[in-house]
Amino acid sequence: MSAVLGSVRIVAPARTTRRAEPGARRGATVRARASADAPRDEPLDAVSLPRRRLINLAAATTAFVATQPALAGEFGSDAAMAVMRREGKVRMSDGEWKEKLKDDPYAFEVLRKEATERPFSSPLNSEKRVGTFVCAGCGEPLFASSAKYDSGTGWPSFVEPISAKAVTEVPDYSIVFLPRTEVRCAACQGHLGHVFDDGPRDRTGLRYCMNGVSLKFKPDDAA
Ligand SMILES: [Zn+2]
Repeated sequence: MSAVLGSVRIVAPARTTRRAEPGARRGATVRARASADAPRDEPLDAVSLPRRRLINLAAATTAFVATQPALAGEFGSDAAMAVMRREGKVRMSDGEWKEKLKDDPYAFEVLRKEATERPFSSPLNSEKRVGTFVCAGCGEPLFASSAKYDSGTGWPSFVEPISAKAVTEVPDYSIVFLPRTEVRCAACQGHLGHVFDDGPRDRTGLRYCMNGVSLKFKPDDAA
């Protein structure tokens, strides 16, 4: 099933929907959900949505380029256009990605079309073994299990990526009044989720809020 909440599409198996609203939440969790959830009162307009998306994409790319020294002054360059087209060193057409990700109907929608999975829908949310979370698209290592923590949001959450180069962070203005930072796999530019600054204060203070469907877990003892 899929539903449209504001400008963020949420996809998830139907069996998970009853767990979407957990009863008890801690203070930090409430803030986290408020920033991660899509607004309910944003008007949906079938005509204006594609146009607005184009505008937002252009604004996001401009902002991204302006914040990246390597790309400054290169708006329209190959590097900037590759980010805009969601192309990394691992590069495939939508058709090829669909074929590669066909085992999970939501992986393509999330990784390649920036949809958001329903909270508490991923088994990886409760994964506690030692190992590495890799990109479900291209297999690149993205997060160590030691960086994972229970944010209570219903999405797998981490305090940092496995290395700064493993992910690409891009300004995301798809919700106009709630600027966010999108997190992508650097290698394939697949959408992973967003990063917020309400993570554990005694660690990095960051919360990498990831879609479980964008990740696969490789336990250390399976090598
Ligand atoms: Zn990837």
